[in-house]
Amino acid sequence: MKKLSLIIPAYNEEEVLPQLIERLNEVSQHLSNYQFQFLFINDGSSDNTLELLKELNKKDKRMQYVDLSRNFGKETAMLAGFDYANGDGIVILDADLQHPPEVIEEMINWWEQGYEDVYAVRKKREGETFFKIWTSKLYYKIVQKMTPEKVIPQAGDFRLLDKKCIYALRQLREKERYTKGMYGWIGFKKKEITYFAEERAAGETKWKWSNLFKLAIDGITSYSTVPLKVWSYIGFTISVLAFIFLAVETIKTIVFGTDAAGYPTLLAAILFLGGIQLISLGVIGEYLGRVFVETKGRPAYFIRESSEFDESEKEENE
Ligand code: UDP
Ligand code: MG
Repeated sequence: MKKLSLIIPAYNEEEVLPQLIERLNEVSQHLSNYQFQFLFINDGSSDNTLELLKELNKKDKRMQYVDLSRNFGKETAMLAGFDYANGDGIVILDADLQHPPEVIEEMINWWEQGYEDVYAVRKKREGETFFKIWTSKLYYKIVQKMTPEKVIPQAGDFRLLDKKCIYALRQLREKERYTKGMYGWIGFKKKEITYFAEERAAGETKWKWSNLFKLAIDGITSYSTVPLKVWSYIGFTISVLAFIFLAVETIKTIVFGTDAAGYPTLLAAILFLGGIQLISLGVIGEYLGRVFVETKGRPAYFIRESSEFDESEKEENE
């Protein structure tokens, strides 16, 4: 019997857990040909999430948990999930039921046909503002242009990965993670399906405006060196334009004589170049910061405790 592991990162999700468990139970009953592991990653919740998870584990050994030592963020929580999940197929699922677990059945069908990464693309996003949808569309367009690997728009972490993919993902241990880019980078046989996203079933989103900016920068800088290189082109173009401008001005002065005007152009040129220099310094800083974080070679996360795993099932956990 094949085993499916569901990785569910949970950060302050006490309100939604009961509903989630109900839905997961229904789905697992329906898919009785498979063995299930529900692996919750408690990402430093400050509410009763952990207590709930422990109770669940007592009642049902399929419900397992890993308790991280603090809040590391969803990307790192997923890495912990990759390390501890031991199924033949692994599904990543949000705790808030925005990823309807019923879709898993369709994912399994494709997986059984030999696809190794079945990812779900969201069709409609209920309860999301026009602005969030628009900014995310724009962002994906930019990422597509800049990165060598394909990042599929609207495809999130909701997907079924074969254990081959999980072995690969376990080896990508960078700390500033952008998992959406990794799925493309590791390769393997992919299949796209669609689903309708629902509104968060209960509790509050942990998503903040500042996240958008951070995720955008992480997404681009962890997969692309275009922002580092583009400055030489911009600098070159500006220098050429400045040289032409200078030549024109010189000729004008020779032919028509000079007057003391020209402060606005001077100031504009200085401020413009100053701005460009600051931006390019910032870009280098982003990459340097990344190098700094990675060279420290710290583990990506620590765990406080976990439910009991079958020793034979446990794989190199960090
Ligand atoms: N999450 C997490 N750590 C965090 C923030 C979120 O593990 O620091 C989990 C959260 O519990 C949920 C998933 O990531 O299962 C998606 O979070 P959320 O629904 O808040 O984000 P949104 O869907 O609004 O983008
Ligand atoms: Mg959500």
